[in-house]
Amino acid sequence: MFEKFDLDSELLASIQKIGYTKPTSIQELVIPEAMAGKDVMASAPTGTGKTAAFLLPVAQHLLDYPRTQPGFPRVLILTPTRELAIQIGEDSKQLTELTKIKTGVITGGVNYGSHADILTSTTDILVATPGRLMEYIENEQFDAREIEILILDEADRMLDLGFSETINRIVAEARWRKQTMLFSATLEGAGVLRFAKEVLNDPVFLES
Ligand code: AMP
Repeated sequence: MFEKFDLDSELLASIQKIGYTKPTSIQELVIPEAMAGKDVMASAPTGTGKTAAFLLPVAQHLLDYPRTQPGFPRVLILTPTRELAIQIGEDSKQLTELTKIKTGVITGGVNYGSHADILTSTTDILVATPGRLMEYIENEQFDAREIEILILDEADRMLDLGFSETINRIVAEARWRKQTMLFSATLEGAGVLRFAKEVLNDPVFLES
């Protein structure tokens, strides 16, 4: 059933290996729009399969447009907590296992120096919590200018946790991006709507 999406055989093989037989409703909605390059605002609480909904189109984009030279990460996924970042990182590694795509995870709570490898090697997909990533940007160890796709995961929670200013700065740094996707438990909150207006370009609104 995932075959109806225009995904490479390596991704379809990983999906089969993981054991997903059919797309969840949020995946049905998000994958075609994301693969068409649209900005997306989607309501999808944890547990709905939202992670694969954004990871599959991201991985397909990286396969369609391979990196031509070493550089900085091309996809940035911002998420509110360390646990979520680690989980998304694991999901990404699993889904891209049969490809050359590399995933790196940056969070607070670990030694600052331990991320040097992730920032210097050719990480394609960077999963990060906002505070620690901002430190690297301020110290000029990370440059967001090569980010092509930006994912804001659990945006409502990031705003609730007081990350608004930090995220706005990171979003501004990633100004050459071609696509932005925002996921939130609900789309109704005034804060998240105001934020979405600033960061999304003519988005499609999707509710699972
Ligand atoms: P998420 O909402 O992304 O945290 O995903 C919740 C759980 O659903 C995770 O354990 C995923 O591995 C699983 N999952 C995601 N997509 C599918 C699918 N199409 N079929 C079955 N399980 C899935």
